[in-house]
Amino acid sequence: MDGNALCADCGNDNPLDLTWASSNLGVVLCNQCVGGHRNLGVHISKPLSLKMDDWSDDLKDGMLAAGNATLNAVHEEHPAAADFKPRPAADVEEKHAYVRSKYANKSFHAGGDGAMEPWKVRATSTIGTSGQVHAGIAIVRIFRGIDLVAADLNGKSDPYVKLKCGGKKAKTKVVNKSLNPEWDETLQLNVESQSEPITVEVVDVRALDALLDHQAACHAAAATAAAAAGDDYNRWAAIDAAME
Ligand SMILES: [Zn+2]
Repeated sequence: MDGNALCADCGNDNPLDLTWASSNLGVVLCNQCVGGHRNLGVHISKPLSLKMDDWSDDLKDGMLAAGNATLNAVHEEHPAAADFKPRPAADVEEKHAYVRSKYANKSFHAGGDGAMEPWKVRATSTIGTSGQVHAGIAIVRIFRGIDLVAADLNGKSDPYVKLKCGGKKAKTKVVNKSLNPEWDETLQLNVESQSEPITVEVVDVRALDALLDHQAACHAAAATAAAAAGDDYNRWAAIDAAME
């Protein structure tokens, strides 16, 4: 596809970073700009992993019908787009501000206002080499729980798994009345800093506080985001989930 060897928003051409796409807009994205798309909400952009998500034929056709060059001809028609378009090495905050301006505000449409949203450069997040921010999306696969502690009076639990990293959270579905739940779900978290730990908790949706302190049926060991973010973000987070 014309232009699809580059991130539609920052021009990143490293194939290792280009593993995302907006399934409704039909553009290929890098692992940093996709976080900006995720923040827009699914009514504007629906990001999917090119490697891990299932793509239906309809979605594939949509991707082939659109493409970065076609979409950018509309979304970056305003001359100000060339001034504000971030470089591949730009701060992730700048990329996300550009994504908001481009898709939510439509600032760079032909009749747009040409304005770029403000962004903060966070000094603490500039880790890694050559000033590049290694932030991205942690992908965590939750398989199952084995012999969980019963949290209900009926000797069962209604467990789900909660992930936290910085201010971001994600959770699985609740499995009703089970001590050996099968989740088999893939959760995604925006990771803003490699040093931020990911905490994994198995909690009961209806546990009585009197029986279990703060509903925590199990506290799994934390993996650092570094295992899942940045250059190696495609690797599974090595979570040593020692179930109690
Ligand atoms: Zn990008």
